Amino acid sequence: MPQEPVLRNFINGQWHNSGSSTVLPVTNPATAQTLAHVPLSPGVEVDAAAQAGLKAFQEWRRTPAPDRIQFLFKLKALLEEHLDELARIVTNECGKTYAESVGEIRRGIENIEVACGIPSLMQGYNNEDIARGIDEHMIRQPLGVVAAITPFNFPAMIPLWFLPYAVATGNCFILKPSERVPMASQRLFELIAQAGFPPGVIQLVNGSKETVDAILDHPIIRAISFVGSTPVARYIYRRAAENGKRAQCQGGAKNPVVIMPDADMVTTTRIMADSAFGCAGQRCLAASVAITVGGARNTFTESIAEAAATRVVGYGLDPGVEMGPVITAQSKERIEGLIAKGAQEGASVLVDGRGKRVNGYEDGYFVFPTVLDDVPPDSEIAHTEIFGPVLSLMHVQTLDEAIELVNNRRYGNMACIFTSDGASARRFRYEANAGNIGVNIGVAAPMAFFPFSGWGESFFGDLHGQAWHGVEFYTQTKVVIERWPREWSRRF
Ligand code: NAD
Repeated sequence: MPQEPVLRNFINGQWHNSGSSTVLPVTNPATAQTLAHVPLSPGVEVDAAAQAGLKAFQEWRRTPAPDRIQFLFKLKALLEEHLDELARIVTNECGKTYAESVGEIRRGIENIEVACGIPSLMQGYNNEDIARGIDEHMIRQPLGVVAAITPFNFPAMIPLWFLPYAVATGNCFILKPSERVPMASQRLFELIAQAGFPPGVIQLVNGSKETVDAILDHPIIRAISFVGSTPVARYIYRRAAENGKRAQCQGGAKNPVVIMPDADMVTTTRIMADSAFGCAGQRCLAASVAITVGGARNTFTESIAEAAATRVVGYGLDPGVEMGPVITAQSKERIEGLIAKGAQEGASVLVDGRGKRVNGYEDGYFVFPTVLDDVPPDSEIAHTEIFGPVLSLMHVQTLDEAIELVNNRRYGNMACIFTSDGASARRFRYEANAGNIGVNIGVAAPMAFFPFSGWGESFFGDLHGQAWHGVEFYTQTKVVIERWPREWSRRF
């Protein structure tokens, strides 16, 4: 048996050891030390959660929305109280800096706050006298048991893009977190248990592909929320749809940013360095291609290279560290391979983050900030999601050419422009093919009260996560047409 703890599932209000004999190590990417082991739960454990969810649903859907949200208020208070502890868990299993971990937990809590408005958000609408004496109403009802499958890069935040809306609207919810970062969910569920949600309303099943497939095929589970890479998003969307489920599947990205010559270069560089290298480039909204227009080429190239070369890399809990490691040794190898590929394809490696070590953390999976210059627009590297701290530079002469490059890609998660000219900004906002647009913003992450958009191969589905899209996704509409002639009434 492993020395480190084996994580448990939370089913029907109780902690259970998985019956699986297969476990994977959970590793601190800064030290390469094993922190825990995660079980790969078999289908029978998904079934136990689905059955418990269905049972709980009968009472939970009848619990008035103002009463349901009281549990979310408690959960919010508990998350605030344990924010520091949770942030340390996120940094240790995921590698990002402490400040980045605090930031993602805050973003998660904001979704709970928005979902606490469900008594208003869930309202339907009505018309009297659609025909003489006949009224029509639209009401929203929960679906039943729903599930979310989440990625490694935001262990605390992404489950909270879905969970609060699902349960506030009256559904029962199952989470399958990333097997690479399951510890934040383990602690989150201890707090969920403390908040007192009735058994079966919120459940946790650890695992990987086999567990996911059992969720996708389970007849009780009505809807799937997924965030992860594009190939898996596409697979999940297809299999969920074949099984008659609703699905919202957020995929990968390759986010272009246009730098106009009139942009304030000091601010632009600071924001761009954070966007490209923050969270070690492992954000689905990381800037990965910077397209300079005209005279921005020289100033931006010089300043971003300086910012990349001087960024402080290390263990995310150490003071002063600005960037942590990437998630696994395989990730490091893949990213370094893609940098080499970029060089082979004709890019010049202006700042090279390969083969570097951090003192005291020699075993960590560190890739330092890297800048590839003159990346050919049709090269593979220009279109491949690197998901590491690598910024590719391309240079054009006009905004027209820049927009063409922005739109010549299969992903559509985010596109940004840096400029001091309103007309350029408006045109970009109007013409860029991406679901999240930033104007003088490096990470255009929508607040919880806006849907997290995403176009092209960055998203499969219609209704996105967060805000009123979340409310619509987790409810089905029922339309009622009523006739109550006065002469039918008993007179008192
Ligand atoms: P991933 O696709 O490898 O894994 C995501 C989830 O899917 C995990 O829970 C994993 O267990 C499961 N999974 C993996 N392979 C599977 C398979 N073959 N069948 C069934 N389930 C499977 O993604 P990741 O590496 O954890 O996360 C990084 C990716 O997520 C990047 O591509 C990033 O762009 C994307 N992402 C997108 C958004 C967004 O909002 N669009 C946000 C965050 C991350």
